[in-house]
Amino acid sequence: MLEQLAAIVESSDDAIVAKSLDGTILSWNSAAERMYGYAAEEVLGQGISIIVPHDRARELSSIMAALARGERVDHLETRRRRKDGSVFDVSLTVSPIRDRSGSIVGASSVARDIGDRKQAEVALQAREEALERTCSLLEKAEALSRTGSWMLELGDPPALFWSKECYRVLGLDESDPMSVERFFSLVHPDDVDRLNTAMGGALDAHEAYEIEHRIAAHDGSYRWLHVWAEPEYDEAGAPARVLGVAHDVTARREADAALRASERRFRLLAENAHDFIFRFELVPERRFDYVSPASLAVTGFAPEELYQDPSLIDRLVDPARTAELEAAFGLGLLADPLDVEFRRRDGGVGWVNQQLTFIRDEAGAVIAVEGISRDVTRRKLAEDRLEHLGLHDALTGLPNRLLLRDRINLALARAARQDARVAAVAFDLDDFTLINDSEGTETGDIVLRVIAERLALVTPPDGTVARVGNDEFLAIANVVNEDETLALVDRMRRVTRDPVPTDGGDLHVEASLGVVVQAPTSSASTLVRDAGLALARAKLQQVPGAVEFFNPDMRDRTNDRFALISDLHRAIERDEFTLHYQPVVSLLDGRITGAEALIRWHHPARGLLAPGDFIGVSEETGHIIELGGWVLRNACTQLRDWSRLGVDLEHLSLAVNVSPRQLQVSGVIDQFAEIIDDSGIDPGKLTLEMTESVLMDDLDRFGTILNELRKLGVRIAVDDFGTGYSSLVYLKRLPFDTLKIDQEFIRHLGQDPYDGAIVASALAIARAMRLSVVAEGVETEAQLSELRNMRCDSIQGFFVAEPLPEPEFRSLVLSGKTW
Ligand code: C2E
Ligand code: CA
Ligand code: CA
Repeated sequence: MLEQLAAIVESSDDAIVAKSLDGTILSWNSAAERMYGYAAEEVLGQGISIIVPHDRARELSSIMAALARGERVDHLETRRRRKDGSVFDVSLTVSPIRDRSGSIVGASSVARDIGDRKQAEVALQAREEALERTCSLLEKAEALSRTGSWMLELGDPPALFWSKECYRVLGLDESDPMSVERFFSLVHPDDVDRLNTAMGGALDAHEAYEIEHRIAAHDGSYRWLHVWAEPEYDEAGAPARVLGVAHDVTARREADAALRASERRFRLLAENAHDFIFRFELVPERRFDYVSPASLAVTGFAPEELYQDPSLIDRLVDPARTAELEAAFGLGLLADPLDVEFRRRDGGVGWVNQQLTFIRDEAGAVIAVEGISRDVTRRKLAEDRLEHLGLHDALTGLPNRLLLRDRINLALARAARQDARVAAVAFDLDDFTLINDSEGTETGDIVLRVIAERLALVTPPDGTVARVGNDEFLAIANVVNEDETLALVDRMRRVTRDPVPTDGGDLHVEASLGVVVQAPTSSASTLVRDAGLALARAKLQQVPGAVEFFNPDMRDRTNDRFALISDLHRAIERDEFTLHYQPVVSLLDGRITGAEALIRWHHPARGLLAPGDFIGVSEETGHIIELGGWVLRNACTQLRDWSRLGVDLEHLSLAVNVSPRQLQVSGVIDQFAEIIDDSGIDPGKLTLEMTESVLMDDLDRFGTILNELRKLGVRIAVDDFGTGYSSLVYLKRLPFDTLKIDQEFIRHLGQDPYDGAIVASALAIARAMRLSVVAEGVETEAQLSELRNMRCDSIQGFFVAEPLPEPEFRSLVLSGKTW
């Protein structure tokens, strides 16, 4: 029995070793010799630890302890060491050995080499892990690409397997597995046939197929799937299964549909637009890619013609201009639409407002041009006309001040280049107001047009003549010597003097000229100002057709005065004058019976100017003629407005001061007649005041004129009576109605007996000659009562009121106040 046992132990494949409790090896079978590499005689009596690796020493102690307690160790997987030092895996079963009395004396251990099994296990696990990785990778790939995969087993019945992603795409639950029937119930009814045909065909033809179809998602909405599938066959060649992948292409299909819809919309827009829309390809060949039908209306060429003959583009737009536009685009200058000139089929010039886009390839080369072109020909023509109007005078067509300034700058620049100078001639028609007033403004306009035309003719081609004021022109030209300047001035004077034919016969006009020649370093404003100063000086000569050349003294000495003259010139045009009204009170009833109109000038820089500041100068320059006309016209208009306003003002008479200079101009009677006529007032309400002193100069002449004036129905007053010759002769010979005693004699009334005597005799003479008398400059109550005692008719002065602006004067009258 024991021997049998020993034989079993010997023949066992497992290493069987007995050891005492202290670990001494007691037996060692041949399997142990093979496994550990130690012969039995080498290890018997040795400690068991020679086959235990260091890291298993602890395990060994606990095994020994367990044995000592009578426990056994079953199939412990651990490691052991061979004689050659190599370590290997073993499965170890250790049982205690007891003696007869039952006490534990040692242990037997059975060790099986499990190295191979271990390796197989590791390999298997690695494969499993790899498979798992592949699967999760696949799942991820499916999810990422939104691509599901499926397999249709063509058994009886067929079975359908879906990957996770297939479910996910449609939002379906995986735990509710897919079947062939369920699948077909989800496919869009319109797509079922197509799907069957595709699969059937592929199975017959042994080839892969591709199809897009709709399938219902969990919410009932349809998703579009793109499917690639391939049939597989068994050894006998019968169809076994179909493998496929499905990709959700709903977004792409929707985008495609939207794109097609918007394309359709845009095409519709382009086809119906009035704008000419096109795309012109440059590479690989020059051709129209698209032309909207509006091209016919805009260019005269139908789209088909342009498609057929792309070279027509060069007929439409100058190729040089196209190159320019391309360059501008390169510089980023074409962000906004711009106006482009083109030539229509009929040869006419047209304008389009064009938004151009140059299409580039990756290398940056322009390969196509896209454009939206709106026909703006009409607008452009209107603009050109407006621009012309903005820079030209409407009446004569000559450049205006604005354009003149430009031209002067050009002339200065040219002079600098050519070593020349610039001549400026300021030109002002003499007594033009009279022509306007006596012949009518239509005739005045004819004169201006004719003169303008003539001046333009005699101005050198590189020069400019501009209309810079009502009857004022300014010509400039580049000159190299004095003769040229003189020749220009001479030509201008000659053409002015030629009679101007009008409906009412030939008119003769004259003009005063101011001339200045300056170096290129001058400026436009200096040139204009200095020519104006020279003209002012010419006007001061008071002879028709005077010419003055500018010299710098004009600027320095009399700057103020000349500046004032220049200003006067435009003050009427700029509406800077106004009339104030000083009441005249009748001493019969103490009421206001009339007023004297006194001019005021709201000078833009100097403020309110009294007549003393400018009447003298304007008499010298002749401006008074125009100014006097203005005063008369405004006074008459005011008188007419008052008579429309109410009873109290209806009976007022109005006195207007007339300068003797006005009476020296022929045609003055006609001028006055026309103004009075135009206003429609009762001429009997109008009094013209004239200073005594001047009238004396030429009694005969003034007598005639005053008589003619009176025939118009107006009344005439001697102003400032007492300051002149005090001759009574002229009083008798001139047709006066009123006598205005100068304030000089009123000032000391009641104090200076001499003044009292003069006033008394003036009143006596007036009474004898049936003239009414107005005492001027009444400032005090005392003066008033003295005049009342002397039975003076009317008074005027600060005691009643200063000259008042019209509204204040009106309310004073309407207040009904008496004195
Ligand atoms: P004038 O015709 O003798 O006008 C009366 C001037 O005496 C006015 O001065 C007036 O403001 C001032 N005056 C009136 N009452 C008193 C007073 O109680 N005391 C004082 N110290 N002065 C008084 P104004 O408006 O400065 O006019 C000055 C002159 O200018 C006028 O003297 C007239 O000869 C002339 N004038 C005014 N308006 C015109 C006009 O429209 N055309 C013309 N040709 N000359 C005008
Ligand atoms: Ca007066
Ligand atoms: Ca006076």
